[in-house]
Parts: sequence; C-alpha cells; structure tokens
Amino acid sequence: MKKIELRIRTFGDPVLTKAAKQIRGITGYHRKLLSEMSRLMYEVSGVGLAAPQIGVSESLIVVDAGSGLYKLINPKIVKREGAQAIEEGCLSVPGISVKVKRAKKLILEALDEDGEKLTIEAEDLLACVFQHELDHLNGKLIIDYSPNKEEIKKKIKGLKKIG
Ligand code: ZN
Repeated sequence: MKKIELRIRTFGDPVLTKAAKQIRGITGYHRKLLSEMSRLMYEVSGVGLAAPQIGVSESLIVVDAGSGLYKLINPKIVKREGAQAIEEGCLSVPGISVKVKRAKKLILEALDEDGEKLTIEAEDLLACVFQHELDHLNGKLIIDYSPNKEEIKKKIKGLKKIG
C-alpha cells in the first residue's frame, strides 16, 4: 500500500490546478485515504477536503457540513438549481476569502467506498461545500472566481517569498 502523506497542499503546488483522475477499481488504499482525509478534515475544523489538497490527484472528497460525513468517490453534479453566494475560505488558500456564486440546490451522484452508487440531494451550505470540493477535482480554486484574481495570486506569491 502506498504511504499516505497527510499534508495540506497550498496555492502554488501544481497538484491543485490539475484535474483529478477518475477512480476505476476501488481498493483498500482509497478507503484508507478517505478515512485519513476525514480525520484531517476534522482535525483542522474544515467542512470538506478533496484528495488533490493532500497531493493525490484522484477523484475523492470528504464533506461534513454539519449533517454527517460523506466519503465520496468520482462525485459528479447531475442537476443544479437556484443561486447563492457565500463568502468561502479554503484550506489550500489560507488567509483569503472570496464570495462565490454557486447553485443553491443540487443533485450529486457518486460511489461510496464500497462502490455502491449514491444519489445525494443537497442545498444551502452543503450544496456549496460539494461544489467547492468538486472544483478542487477540476483544478479550480476560489481565487479563480475573484475579479482580482491576478492581484490575489501576486499577493500570495509575494507573501511566500517573505517567509
Ligand atoms: Zn478548498
């Protein structure tokens, strides 16, 4: 089994802007990843975490927005409805928040860790978190939604140089 390194990758790490691979054939490694990701998410008081955020470019997310834990494989949004805009932060872009316009309600399809097909209906915060995590799987970050995207990127890079 591959060793799992639990370190949250931050902006500038190329894994965050790469599309994650679909998983064919769920193994013990994926189940282990999902449970380690959940543990890390709770440890840092996050409401969601996507595998690329720990450097694994595979289609896995964990979410708990207060209504229970979801450990999902190959999640896909099949229906979107309405609109909402929440000020979002991201563990991979520390210190930055961006108001992101997203669907208010959605239906998502995914596999659970045993490969069973799930259909999940979500709204409000939970829907927002799913959309945020799915963006990570597509290599998209909250700063991509900001009208000052380039400025923010420069600012983050500048901060990194200082220390
Ligand atoms: Zn994020």
